[in-house]
Amino acid sequence: MEPTPSAKAPAAPEVAAVIVSRRRIQRRLDELAGEIAAAYAGCELTVVAVLDGALIFLADLVRRLEMDLRIITLSVRSYSGNGPRPGGPVISGVLPRLEGRHVLVVDDVLDTGSTLSAVLEQVRLCNPASCRCCVLLRKHRRGGGPACAPKVDFAGFEIEDRFVVGYGLDFDGKYRNLSDIVVLKRHWE
Ligand code: 5GP
Ligand code: MG
Repeated sequence: MEPTPSAKAPAAPEVAAVIVSRRRIQRRLDELAGEIAAAYAGCELTVVAVLDGALIFLADLVRRLEMDLRIITLSVRSYSGNGPRPGGPVISGVLPRLEGRHVLVVDDVLDTGSTLSAVLEQVRLCNPASCRCCVLLRKHRRGGGPACAPKVDFAGFEIEDRFVVGYGLDFDGKYRNLSDIVVLKRHWE
């Protein structure tokens, strides 16, 4: 017989702390979708999603948006192993014509802001009618964020400056399938 998945599955042994629980995520997504739907009432929306990290956030968010929308995905690599990629984020994928469209860039985390800045720059070069952004997590960086960090229009949660995984976010390709956003023991001082 197949095992029954439990809503309260025990955290993986590598998990030190749950930062945002699955219940809080789902509740906040309802609110976030309401804010986005109100901002784009009567408009057709083009969502540009930054993969791979935003994969699960994107899937849960767009299913709450009962409106005309298109989804475009870009793959962006910001990290290699433990640290930021030398030379900055690498974007792969080609943007289609966005001229005259209302674009919402969806990303998982705003940390230094360099990933989102790079994507927003590409989108703005396409002359959209409007360009806003939505992130699931915004980190409070120790010592303050860089002055160049882009303005975020819609944000799910503010979190401390810690490396988190789960709900689409990975470490070395793993942990994206966790339903909660957690810190691993190896990243917990
Ligand atoms: P930024 O360019 O803002 O410094 O970093 C943003 C990108 O780095 C995010 O889109 C995300 O993919 C990755 N990132 C930043 N912080 C974290 C984190 O705590 N955990 C994981 N897994 N990825 C992160
Ligand atoms: Mg990302």
